[in-house]
Formats: sequence, structure tokens, C-alpha cells
Amino acid sequence: MIDQATRAGFSGQDVPPEDVFNQCVRCGLCLPTCPTYVETLVETSGPRGRIALIRAVAEGQLDLTSPGFMHQMSECLDCRACEAVCPSGVRYGELLEPARTQIVRATAPARTPAARFGRAVLIGTLFSQLSVMRLAASFVRFYQRSGLQAFARKSGILRALRLEDLEAIAPRMSPRFFVAADQRFPARGTRKASAFFHAGCIMHVAFAEWNEASVRVLTRAGVEVVVPRDQGCCGAITIHAGEMERGRELAKRNIAAFERSGADVYVINAAGCGSALKEYGQLFHDVPAWHERALAFSAKVRDITEYLDEIGIDPNLGPVNAVVTYQDPCHLAHAQRITAPPRRLLAQIPGLEIREMEESSLCCGSAGIYNVTQPEMAGRLGRRKVEHVLDVAPDILATANPGCALQIANGLRASGRAVEVLHVVQLLDRAYSAGTGTFKQLI
Ligand code: SF4
Ligand code: SF4
Repeated sequence: MIDQATRAGFSGQDVPPEDVFNQCVRCGLCLPTCPTYVETLVETSGPRGRIALIRAVAEGQLDLTSPGFMHQMSECLDCRACEAVCPSGVRYGELLEPARTQIVRATAPARTPAARFGRAVLIGTLFSQLSVMRLAASFVRFYQRSGLQAFARKSGILRALRLEDLEAIAPRMSPRFFVAADQRFPARGTRKASAFFHAGCIMHVAFAEWNEASVRVLTRAGVEVVVPRDQGCCGAITIHAGEMERGRELAKRNIAAFERSGADVYVINAAGCGSALKEYGQLFHDVPAWHERALAFSAKVRDITEYLDEIGIDPNLGPVNAVVTYQDPCHLAHAQRITAPPRRLLAQIPGLEIREMEESSLCCGSAGIYNVTQPEMAGRLGRRKVEHVLDVAPDILATANPGCALQIANGLRASGRAVEVLHVVQLLDRAYSAGTGTFKQLI
């Protein structure tokens, strides 16, 4: 049963701030940038409409748990494209996440046992205990590499268990995991700085190659890289799922680990995680004991493309003779406003031809667990993105976020066209291998 007292209006902690939604002057300039509005042309599926809905709930004119409101808070990708273009400076993300948290709290008592179990496993266990995530990832890796996957796909068992879609979008696990274990990788040449490297949660089991390439490129740029074991998940998926309090617990772990490390900066190679890490200050805005520490932490967070662009890379790059197109991850382009650094890094690779695709910063439909919560819209946006990629006929799609890489790689596979999907640092790493060969031995 949904608690009647929580139906009208928001209550308790994590309330969408009135001064933020009152800033919206309803000009509509954000509408053409909103993926769900562009796809549907429905007012409530756009930022202006969603802000009006949030205000209506705050003013008690609309039930928090009305199906229309819950649908819109779920259909929004949290891509923040609206925020980046808003002339009034509406910080949309500060509205959406508390609104989702309020829904999660109000609907918790009505959740089925299966939904409760799924949430407890995903949010309460996998993302908060990385040893459990590694154990689960080891099973998935065995399933994917032992022939079991091929058998399950052919046999129809996945369809019978209604697991076909979920199984298809699961990332392929890395051959070896990148586990944070107090590693210290020395800088090559003159040491410019020391960086705390965030190994991630899904990143460390499914994108370990990205992490390894990141360490190689950073050390080659003169950065000492440390990977403290007491770090953990950034909390992004937990927060986007409306579990703000659990997200804060995860954030505290990273803040404390960084403070202990003594590193100069906190470097991350996943745009969605970087965006969450840079917003820890906001996450703790009404938690006085942590607010200052969170602000100081966030000021030191750098996306790896931003950081490499800032400090300069080793220029001894060999040629990569290929055509590349770059996909702007929403949480890099809109939430962090980083678009030029990855392109400047790619432009330094000899032999690489860069072709810009249309709508490179329109969300690809990945957005955390959006594929699971909104499969229809995720599919529409994924197909739209793949068409734009194929229009420029690249050999390589470069990006800077694992969710985008997965979503676009799945779409490209379905199209039957061979396009490699890589992080920007993997391309730099490849260029170094082409130039000097042996450095890969280091890790
Ligand atoms: S651009 Fe900003 S002010 Fe204009 S409708 Fe969108 S959110 Fe409101
Ligand atoms: S965050 Fe993205 S999907 Fe949500 S309203 Fe803004 S532009 Fe639209």
C-alpha cells in the first residue's frame, strides 16, 4: 500500500528546491535538446513539462504517485541536455533526483517481494560491496566464455525466463579484473603530479581494459597513479535510482579514501561517474558534517580527457590509420560541459581522420539502467544514434563513458556493420603502441 500521507506534495529530506523550479521562465529553448521530447513531441516528455509537473506536486496539485508523474520522472534520461542550454540557469538535475527519491520512498511499501529483492541485490549489495560484484562478474564471465551463453541463446531458455533483453545488453566481462589494491604506478620522465585513479564498480570488471589503458596513458604523461583499495562505487546508479541516502554512504567512502591518499587530483574515465563525483558537494548540501569535505573533494575531480588535455600528453604518438567519430556522453558534454578536450586529444593522433556525426551530444538511450526501466525509448534513441554513426562511415566510434559504449556497440552489432568502439584513452594507448611498442608491459 502507498502511504496516503506522502501522496500530495514532497516531504522530509531531499525535496526538489523551490528556488530552482521557480527559475524556469517556460521559454522552451530546452525542448529541441531533449531526447524524449524530440522523439515524442509531447510537452510533458520535455524539460519544461517535467518542471511544471514537479512544481504541481510541490504545490499539492498533483499526486506524487500519480502514474503520469511517475512515468515522466522515469522516462527522463537525466541527460542534462536541457540544463546546458537553459538561459535561466535552471539546474534541472537538482530537481529530478530528489523527485525520484521521493517516489522511491512513497512507493516502497507497495513494492512486490521480487522487486524488493531485485533492488536489494542491485543497489544494496552489488554496488556497495565490490567483492560481491566481482563474484557475480566471475560467474557471468564463465557463462559468456564457456559456451553456456551460446547454448542458452540457441535453446530459447532465455526467452522462456524473460531474460532475453537483459542478457543481450549485459556487458562482456573483462578477461582480468582491474581491482583497486593500493597499486602505485610511477610517472614516466619528470613527475608532474599524483593522481588517485577511480577503478569503478562495473568498470573494474567489465571495462578493465579502459582502466589499464588509462593508467598507461597517465603515467606516460608524467603522472604518478595510485589506486587505493578503500575506494568504491561513485554512487551514480544508486542516486539515479532514487536511493539518495545509500548514495551518500558510497560517496563518503570515496571522499575519505581520497583525503587519506594525499594525491593531487581524483581522475576518472567514466563520464557518468565523473559527473556524480563532481556533484558530491550538492549531494551533501544539507549534511553540514560532510558538506565542506565534499566540496573540497569535488573540486579535485577530473575526467581523464579533461586532465590529459590540461597537463599535456606525451607527444610520441605513432600513427592510427582509421576514420573515427566521437560520441559526446551526456554526462561529459552537458553535466560537465567537456566537449573540446576529447576532440583535441584525438586530433593529436597521426593518421586519424575525425568525422563529426549529427547529434553527437543527443543521448544514445543508455543512461544507467534506462535500458531496463524504459526499454522502448532506449531502443528508439539507440537506433537514432546508430544511424548517425553509420552515416559518417567510421572504422572507430570513440567515446568516454561505458554506458554509451555498450549501447552503441549493441546497436552497431545489430546493424551488421563492423565499427570498433573504444574510449579516447584506448586510442591514445594504441597510438603509443604503434609509436614505441613496449610500454604495455608495465601493467
Ligand atoms: S530553457 Fe530553462 S527556462 Fe526555458 S523552459 Fe527550459 S528549463 Fe525553463
Ligand atoms: S534531463 Fe534530458 S531527458 Fe530529462 S528533461 Fe532534460 S533533456 Fe530531457
